[in-house]
Amino acid sequence: MPRYCPYMLCLILAVLLVPVMPLYTQAQVIKSGPASCPGVALTFDLCPVRNGAGYDQALIDYLIEHKIPATFFMSGKWIAKHDPQVRDLLQIPFFEIGTHGDVHAHLPLHSAEEQKQEILGPVRMLKAKYSHDATLFRPPYGEFNDVTVEVTRALGLQFILWNVVSGDPDPTITTLQIEDHLKRTVKKGSVIVMHANGKGRHTHEVVQGLHRQFLPQRNLTPMTMSDLLVCNGQATQ
Ligand SMILES: [Zn+2]
Repeated sequence: MPRYCPYMLCLILAVLLVPVMPLYTQAQVIKSGPASCPGVALTFDLCPVRNGAGYDQALIDYLIEHKIPATFFMSGKWIAKHDPQVRDLLQIPFFEIGTHGDVHAHLPLHSAEEQKQEILGPVRMLKAKYSHDATLFRPPYGEFNDVTVEVTRALGLQFILWNVVSGDPDPTITTLQIEDHLKRTVKKGSVIVMHANGKGRHTHEVVQGLHRQFLPQRNLTPMTMSDLLVCNGQATQ
């Protein structure tokens, strides 16, 4: 037997035994834009709420008034209770609309078929009722497993997480604490997760600070998620 045979055998075995899914998963989950891009994505989850309006009107008005690009991830339950707000958000040209699960489920606890239905719920609603194709998906709680990534890919959706957590739904956190954290963590290509469902007590104030001071000081420009992903180092705004 030639001397290289054991080596070849090992190589073949190694190739066969390489766990394909984890490598695949890493490539599919988007947490930021290119590090060369002088842009950041301000992203706002619209998770369902039990009490209250479920909508931060002052925040939305501020974004519209100052023409600040933003991306929203709508859950199916939220869409069902906020028809006028869905229509308002969809008609703003510098807003992008993605989805955030149907009932805000903990996806890894569910089978592939259940995950598919949870992911598809709001995608179908936006298409059927509002003729909107939503291609960005963010998992509720940021929780997912390999099945979630594969189902999302098979549905032709882009899997969007974040690389900067604002912490805005925490009722004990102050505006200053959020701003200090953002100053330490936001950089070129960052994707910041916030909330527009009224759960962020200081979100409006934090966005004002970002827009007026922090982002201009660092020559960073807000972009929609899709613009950030194709940003080649030149600000588009
Ligand atoms: Zn959520």
